[in-house]
Amino acid sequence: MTETAWQARIAENLRWVRERIAAALDRAGRQADEVVLVAVTKTFPATVVRAAAAAGLCDIGENRVQEAAAKRSELQGLAGVRWHLIGHLQRNKAGSAVELFDMIQSVDSLELAAALSRRAVGAGRAVSVLLEVNVGLEASKSGFPPHEEVLLRAVEGILPLERLKLEGLMTVAPMAHNPEEVRPVFRRLAALRAILQERYPEAPWGHLSMGMTDDYEVAVEEGATMVRVGRALFGQRTREQ
Ligand SMILES: *Cc1c(COP(=O)(O)O)cnc(C)c1O
Repeated sequence: MTETAWQARIAENLRWVRERIAAALDRAGRQADEVVLVAVTKTFPATVVRAAAAAGLCDIGENRVQEAAAKRSELQGLAGVRWHLIGHLQRNKAGSAVELFDMIQSVDSLELAAALSRRAVGAGRAVSVLLEVNVGLEASKSGFPPHEEVLLRAVEGILPLERLKLEGLMTVAPMAHNPEEVRPVFRRLAALRAILQERYPEAPWGHLSMGMTDDYEVAVEEGATMVRVGRALFGQRTREQ
């Protein structure tokens, strides 16, 4: 598919997704500009990232460091895009992650946060991070367990780390046939953020990154400030990650 064909497909899908988000915001009585739409381009080529940016999608989500590095080197001249890492990060890739991403949404241990901080200091950069919470306690997923004490302890360790900006929480909900089934997961993440916000009011707890193609409307109703959408914008992936 050519870049122009991609642009047409994305523009049409984007209209639909934006309408769904606006309707969900409206149902929840929220302001219209409260949700950042992160376009998840994993498995799609660099052309798709360029077409997405041309359609006005300036937040791009990738789940692998190497894949993102390859796309970024193909897209040298592409300005105005914020890159988000949304997949599990190994500590030995912390250095590349800091170079490649503006926000790392998948911080799942204090050790990883410390490694990112060291690398950010070394690179003279600041990096925004979200703590990933495994609300569904699924063995296949990473993230902190959804327990107040565990998160409070993690936050206590992370807040003093230099060059890291802790901006909120992220979760990947379990698979469900009906998105209503995962509403309690989103509600739980919002409740955990409220607890952390009360305890550490000095940290900017602005973001709740939750909701994907199958459940972003429910996530927005439950307070998502960021949704991460792939298939609804770009179509089915031919290879899963
Ligand atoms: C793939 C992925 C998404 C997007 O999934 P879709 O179902 O294509 O919208 C969002 N978040 C994470 C962490 C992902 O890995």
